Amino acid sequence: MSNPPNGNTPPAKVIPIVAAAAAPEAGDDGLVSLYQASKKLYPRSVSGLFNQWRWALVWITQIVFYGLPWLVWNNRQAVLFDLEARRFYIFGLVLYPQDFIYLTGLLVISALSLFLFTAVAGRLWCGYACPQTVYTEIFLWIEKKIEGERAARMRLDQSGLSLEKVGRKSAKHLVWVLFSLWTGFTFVGYFTPLHQLGAAVATLALGPWQIFWVLFYGFATYGNAGWMREQVCKYMCPYARFQSAMFDHDTMIVTYDEKRGEPRGARGKKVDYQAKGMGACVDCTLCVQVCPTGIDIRKGLQYECIGCGACADACDEVMDKMGYARGLIKYSTQNGIAQGWTRAQMIRHALRPRVLVYVSILLAICAALAVSLFLRTPLKVDVIRDRGALARMVEAGRIENVFRLQVMNATESRQQIEISVRGMDGLEIASEHAVEVLPTEVRSLVLRLQIPPGSAEPGSHPIEFQIRSLNDAGIRLDEKSVFIVPR
Ligand code: SF4
Ligand code: SF4
Repeated sequence: MSNPPNGNTPPAKVIPIVAAAAAPEAGDDGLVSLYQASKKLYPRSVSGLFNQWRWALVWITQIVFYGLPWLVWNNRQAVLFDLEARRFYIFGLVLYPQDFIYLTGLLVISALSLFLFTAVAGRLWCGYACPQTVYTEIFLWIEKKIEGERAARMRLDQSGLSLEKVGRKSAKHLVWVLFSLWTGFTFVGYFTPLHQLGAAVATLALGPWQIFWVLFYGFATYGNAGWMREQVCKYMCPYARFQSAMFDHDTMIVTYDEKRGEPRGARGKKVDYQAKGMGACVDCTLCVQVCPTGIDIRKGLQYECIGCGACADACDEVMDKMGYARGLIKYSTQNGIAQGWTRAQMIRHALRPRVLVYVSILLAICAALAVSLFLRTPLKVDVIRDRGALARMVEAGRIENVFRLQVMNATESRQQIEISVRGMDGLEIASEHAVEVLPTEVRSLVLRLQIPPGSAEPGSHPIEFQIRSLNDAGIRLDEKSVFIVPR
């Protein structure tokens, strides 16, 4: 990453992100192999502020994920996406496929939030909340508990087959598999009531799809967090590839202060390194050893960097031991590093036009979604014309059109629904026009609409159904349709 050549703030622009891997070299036959064998990483444990934040996020996300399906609301699971019944329950909300717009709104908000956080603070999502990071952290913790710290793990992998090795490896994989299956079970619990699912597991009565999804999600967790780890971020995740389009010189990123750190080199604690013309970096490589993607942040911003801050924590520990000021590796902006800005100055510069645009759009969409949810009528009606007979003549020359109304009760109480119709002279309902709909139930009702003979010209006439609840005056809606008068 190059610094601005002068003291002025350069215009915001996309910043280059380099790949850490060296360019492949041609072999004897002149061919360049694009295959690169991956080296197993043994991230060293680290403690510090960013590590605490990462673990706080691990706890929060996992308590939410594993705890949410166990919550009860109105004698049912509080959060349940019942695909079979086509109903989504989110605490007091009951959503139907017709409410898809809210899901769209939620996705737009998530995407915009990602853009906003990335523009302000880089890969916050990747470093702290992405499931890949979170589960890798958990799996790594299990691995450390069973196989030991970095050096012990490396020794174990290099050692020959022994009872201890088989025992430790088997124990680790057993715990990983059990944890993954529990994760798969919880995931399916968002789509099938968890208590039913638990009973089905206990009686070995799981359905084929439930077995498939528990195993699939469990396998994905085990494979991605246990085996693939940083390779998911490096080779599979598309987000790493387009992040550079959202970064600029005022984006907070984990940065190595090259001006302060170089020239690097080993030295004793008591040595006056500045007098010897050295930088603050003691070249201990701890920042590389703790990195979950195995890169060296001193080479500049690389697309493999997930912004977890582990290297900053490790370096701060080294700086403390050497008696140097902390922050050789820190969250900073390119402009901040180049011009020696304080944190307050960097935050002021973070409020740039693109960030304000993101914030404005985000606030507008959130407000629109909240208002729309607040004003939402918890009753849905689909009016479907009887395709078999558009219009027909019945007794006394009256003209009849038949409609099927699908009434969806999106509340969790019984609703006595009454239907009336208007729009034409003499238009009346010649069939049952009231129906009781149970909580969250969908009921179909066939309505026969009639007009007296000669009361309307041949053709199609707009009419309006008025649907209202007798239990709650606030639940009412109008649906438009047409009445056909034949020639
Ligand atoms: S941890 Fe700090 S001092 Fe050690 S090599 Fe990395 S940047 Fe240099
Ligand atoms: S370079 Fe630092 S911030 Fe980036 S992934 Fe590695 S440890 Fe995390």
